[in-house]
Amino acid sequence: MKQILIPILAGITLLSCKEKQAETATTATPEETTTTETKKQLPFEVNPISHATMVLQWDDTTIYVDPVGGAEAFAKYPTPDLILITDIHGDHLNIETLEGLDTSNAKIIAPKAVADKMPEAFVPQLDVLNNGDSKERFGFVVEAIPMYNLREEALKFHTKGRGNGYVIEKDDTRVYISGDTEDIPEMRNLADIDAAFVCMNLPYTMPVVSAADAVLEFAPKMIYPYHYRGTEGLSDVANFKTIVNKGNPAIEVVQLDWYGKE
Ligand code: ZN
Repeated sequence: MKQILIPILAGITLLSCKEKQAETATTATPEETTTTETKKQLPFEVNPISHATMVLQWDDTTIYVDPVGGAEAFAKYPTPDLILITDIHGDHLNIETLEGLDTSNAKIIAPKAVADKMPEAFVPQLDVLNNGDSKERFGFVVEAIPMYNLREEALKFHTKGRGNGYVIEKDDTRVYISGDTEDIPEMRNLADIDAAFVCMNLPYTMPVVSAADAVLEFAPKMIYPYHYRGTEGLSDVANFKTIVNKGNPAIEVVQLDWYGKE
């Protein structure tokens, strides 16, 4: 009896351990299949670099979003065609990184506050977009979406009008990149978003519950939590996923590795 019990008990332990992993890890087996299948339907690949920084490879176009962290972080990717910058803070704008990259063929889209901080040399390739403006580049229409804080104690971080979130659209595929914001009406009112990158860190942006609530309202097909490291460490993105999927199981939460071993 003892001999039978031990393997059974071991099996149970292993199972519950696996269940625990499934709760927190993004690459749990059943979800992995769905994620891969859905990703294949989207015409782009997402390469997280760190925090708010990513490389999107969409058809033949390479889009860098908020390239910071040194040019070497981008060494394995093609040179950028399009660079989107959301705000003036160091986790979104780093002149040294921009100067270290080969941006000779790149167009750079940024809000005025960012453009004002860019060296002269970048001016000919800069498109300055204010909130609500849009620009077509390489067959992509990029629209600048407001990003700002709502909570009284956080108003100082991102004033309305300074930074841009973006919606990138090509061939009826629409991708939203939130920038640093709270659950503003402009986010909640977005329509037909295929993939959304939404920030959730404190004290700078918003709690996961607010992010989840907004996501449930504009209901993108896929949601990528990003920009979720705050002063108290990483936000509870597992809880974000739980809330979103409880409210709408059809929204796919895609957890990528934004922070390495942190
Ligand atoms: Zn930020």
